[in-house]
Amino acid sequence: MKIAVASGKGGTGKTTVAVNLALVQDGDKLQFLDCDVEEPNAHIFLKPDFANEETVSIPVPEVDEEKCSFCGRCAEVCAFNALIVLKENVMLFSELCHGCGSCAYFCPEKAITEVPRGIGTLEKGTAYGFDFIHGNLNPGEAMSPPLIDAVKNKINSRKFVLIDAPPGTSCPAVTAVKGSDFCLLVTEPTPFGLNDLDLAVQMLKKLGIPSGVLINRADIGDDRVEEYCRRENVPVLMHIPFDRKLAELYARGESIVLHSDRWRSMFEDLWEHISELVDSGKFKVEQKGEEAR
Ligand code: SF4
Ligand code: SF4
Repeated sequence: MKIAVASGKGGTGKTTVAVNLALVQDGDKLQFLDCDVEEPNAHIFLKPDFANEETVSIPVPEVDEEKCSFCGRCAEVCAFNALIVLKENVMLFSELCHGCGSCAYFCPEKAITEVPRGIGTLEKGTAYGFDFIHGNLNPGEAMSPPLIDAVKNKINSRKFVLIDAPPGTSCPAVTAVKGSDFCLLVTEPTPFGLNDLDLAVQMLKKLGIPSGVLINRADIGDDRVEEYCRRENVPVLMHIPFDRKLAELYARGESIVLHSDRWRSMFEDLWEHISELVDSGKFKVEQKGEEAR
């Protein structure tokens, strides 16, 4: 079972929720993937022992100008405008290159070879008895989806997999949640929270992934998020009120369930509830649009 924890925007407490969910599972049955590779911070709370680190690269073109006829075909086929062909020179904007390989494939002179460009690192270790893996994107690097894919390639399908997804609804978030059996959306009961929740719910509908909502700082806003969830048939699975003590634990990099039996049992109930929803298929959604193809 693969469960993603996501949010339409940053700062909703998504990682706190993912970490506390992980801590109520049996360690040997769980794998935790921090796919928020631009700002991985689950390790701050889970304090894993890292056993190894690998560099993740994408293949980018290198042009042999001795062979190149400067025909411009490579720039034509590049969907990301990463190449410009001049009279006697081919320029690559490597930060735009997605490593798709089209330019090398279509080059009539076979003048292009692909060379690896490191975009970040992947670290593997253990925390509280479970597998912990996270990606760390190089500073200033824009190409996070290949690194997220590299983290997800480590999925062990015999385990419960918990994915801490990047915030938002763009490519990195889609890459992280794609293929999940369920996505828990963490939000706040504010107009901004509602707006971003709606975007995230619609994204998940397109991907055909059932979702549920956890409302954090549940007592600070109004009930429009609840009304929205009723209308959209998205279950609200848990409320976390604003609590100074919880905020203090967060600020110290500590987890709620390790300090409170009441919160431990609430997160255990949340796991159970999610498992029941996945098993029952009650909130299964039909995949729509392009993603269905
Ligand atoms: S397609 Fe090949 S030959 Fe044509 S400009 Fe690009 S690298 Fe040169
Ligand atoms: S590998 Fe793909 S994205 Fe990169 S320059 Fe070639 S065609 Fe463009």
